[in-house]
Amino acid sequence: MSTPITTASTSALPPLHERVGEIWMDGRFLPGPQANLNVLSHSLHYGTAVFEGIRVYSGLCFLPRSHLDRLAASASALGYSISYSTNELTAALYELIKRNCISDGYVRVIAWLGSDALGLMAADLSVHLAISVWNWPQVHNLTDENQGISVLISDVRRPGHGALPPQAKASGGYLVGALAYQAARKLNYNDSILRDHEGLIAESTSANLFFVKDGILLTPIADRFLNGLTRQTIIRLAKSQGISVREGRFNESDLMGAQEIFLTGTAVELQPVTRVNHSVFTLGPTTIRLRKAYSECVRKPNAEEELFPQDQSAGF
Ligand code: PMP
Repeated sequence: MSTPITTASTSALPPLHERVGEIWMDGRFLPGPQANLNVLSHSLHYGTAVFEGIRVYSGLCFLPRSHLDRLAASASALGYSISYSTNELTAALYELIKRNCISDGYVRVIAWLGSDALGLMAADLSVHLAISVWNWPQVHNLTDENQGISVLISDVRRPGHGALPPQAKASGGYLVGALAYQAARKLNYNDSILRDHEGLIAESTSANLFFVKDGILLTPIADRFLNGLTRQTIIRLAKSQGISVREGRFNESDLMGAQEIFLTGTAVELQPVTRVNHSVFTLGPTTIRLRKAYSECVRKPNAEEELFPQDQSAGF
């Protein structure tokens, strides 16, 4: 995920800042404890950082170009630009992976506005960038891969059109997910499903939502929330396997009438859902088939070129 990292599975580990080795920051490789920012940083106060989470499989990043292009697009939606090219950042992140001896892990790339001034205006402020990488355990504390998670349909809603740019992966936008996530965890659910401003089913706190009805794979249209790269990958894989896919507007009863439900995201990969509120769902054949296809796809060295060729990049 580029997902909030306060999960049951991570709580037993030492703090994250003690687990990461070197961090790349503003062009230099630094020991983790020296990679700090000023408390007056604009982004700390106003949520104007933009970030990406990228998974590493056997030393290979999955979809690095698409993630780094999305980072640049997110910054641009917030009124600033990143001075490093996608190629320069890709080189830095591979060097960082090597220096930290990571084989299977998670990369967090974050850009933020500096402490030059605290007005709301983003232009003319210094832009900073850091890349960290660490060994990434399971997101949810599950005992085996056939265990699904439970989700609570949240009262917290995604902001409506015109409130926040939905395709920008900006830190400020995560307040909504954090509130929904905490409410769900308090009631012992693993995660939440949020609705959009019209009350229609949208996505989880940090992953997109799919469900299967009568053999058709259904997913909410991702124009009101992040159109995840994993979501786009799963749609392509499903179509290539002859599974019918329908993007639409769905309400809670559409979801509750599903035979299978799963979430998709960089961190959670393809995560089956086996409980929504008090209703139980099974882990079915379409979910199992797509999960297998996804886990093969992420390990293919040329996956990005096959899925999102340079001239038809993922749309943000
Ligand atoms: N929605 C939100 C709110 C997210 O944070 C994420 C994780 N980045 C996703 C969806 C899934 O996006 P992706 O598949 O690109 O990781």
